[in-house]
Amino acid sequence: MPPFESKRISYNMGVEKKNAAELKTIGIMLGIYCRDKHGGKKLCADCEELLAYAANRLRLCPHHPKPACKNCPTHCYLPEKRERVREVMKYAGPRMPLRHPWLTLKHYFL
Ligand SMILES: [Zn+2]
Repeated sequence: MPPFESKRISYNMGVEKKNAAELKTIGIMLGIYCRDKHGGKKLCADCEELLAYAANRLRLCPHHPKPACKNCPTHCYLPEKRERVREVMKYAGPRMPLRHPWLTLKHYFL
């Protein structure tokens, strides 16, 4: 599953270890989504931007443990971005090789 392998390291910068798995999962899902919907071998500019955005939100989240977005007092995701992440998750979730990390993220966004 290496569609964006070369990008992985840079987005881990500044993200705490406990969030690294979540970020990796978002990256994998974006990889699946972008490959099928946008047809590239690696992430297109839009999907890459969304991944960077998600990484920043994870990094800046002041809550421990992070609550589900809909229960969170901060509402850090712009509605438009959150909608895109949800769309990616709905598409890529059932296509994920591992169920567990996706179920965690689903709890956050759906
Ligand atoms: Zn894309």
